[in-house]
Amino acid sequence: MPAVTASDLLVLPRIERPDPGTTTYRPVSQVITSPSFLEGAGFPVRRPFPGPYGNIADPFLLLDHIGAIEYAPGEARGAPWHPHRGFETVTYIMDGAFRHTDSNGGGGLITDGATQWMTAGAGILHDEMPTDELVQKGGLFHGTQLWVNLPARLKFTPPRYQDITADRVALLSSHDGGVLIRVIAGDLDGHKGPGVTHTPIAYAHATLAPGAALEIPWRPDYNALVYVLAGRGTAGLDREPIDDGQLAVLGAGDALTLTADDLQDSRSPNLDVLMLGGQPINEPVVSYGPFVMNTRDEILTAIRDYQAGRMGIIPAVHLPHL
Ligand code: MN
Repeated sequence: MPAVTASDLLVLPRIERPDPGTTTYRPVSQVITSPSFLEGAGFPVRRPFPGPYGNIADPFLLLDHIGAIEYAPGEARGAPWHPHRGFETVTYIMDGAFRHTDSNGGGGLITDGATQWMTAGAGILHDEMPTDELVQKGGLFHGTQLWVNLPARLKFTPPRYQDITADRVALLSSHDGGVLIRVIAGDLDGHKGPGVTHTPIAYAHATLAPGAALEIPWRPDYNALVYVLAGRGTAGLDREPIDDGQLAVLGAGDALTLTADDLQDSRSPNLDVLMLGGQPINEPVVSYGPFVMNTRDEILTAIRDYQAGRMGIIPAVHLPHL
């Protein structure tokens, strides 16, 4: 997994170990094993949420985990032109490359530990495709896409892109140096990531060496989700087992604790997790495919606006994709 790595974890800023006397470690309230779906033009994703478990993720709407998969030549697929309104898509690519294009002239190549944070806001058309090279030659692909909700007051904010290249991510280590943490957005224990968010959010990727432990302060007003990208370990003081493709939903408290099992599979030698948290938006969510609004009327308006071309039009140069 060549998402950004560091040659010497011991020189990185350390997360201070929370004081066990005054800290409430968040318990694991639920472990969800992600079901698999086909998305876009037919690529497999694991999707821990949304699902039939109630509102576990607010302010997050959806998480798709793509791969790690070794595509044969001609096999890689993307998600051709489609609209979005009312939320943000956050695409993180650990292996391989995806090219995004949009009706505003934005987009770009996302590869090797980069994140693209797209605020759809009032509306945008979006095309997400593997690179020609990945399609023709095949190869390793591993990435995620997170959907972050926008509150009612920001549903019609102008579209915005943040290209968060891998070298901008804030790198931290754990108190014992056994964990590499990449802060993509928000801040962890006062260490700020580069991503700018519309509502308070923390988004990070941690790699725990076999046998390593992570104890990390976590804002009590945030929810807390830990998704396993690869490897296995435990979450919470009760050491609830978590494995590849599972999501741990954590309860109330002001710190998280995770451990990586001593023995890992050779294909994924570490425990890799996404750590997600944010202030719940606590508003009604009415979604229809790529539109996420507060009411059914707003969804009907979104469909009309899309059909009338008010979310933009597909740039002519990309018509051959269709
Ligand atoms: Mn999209």
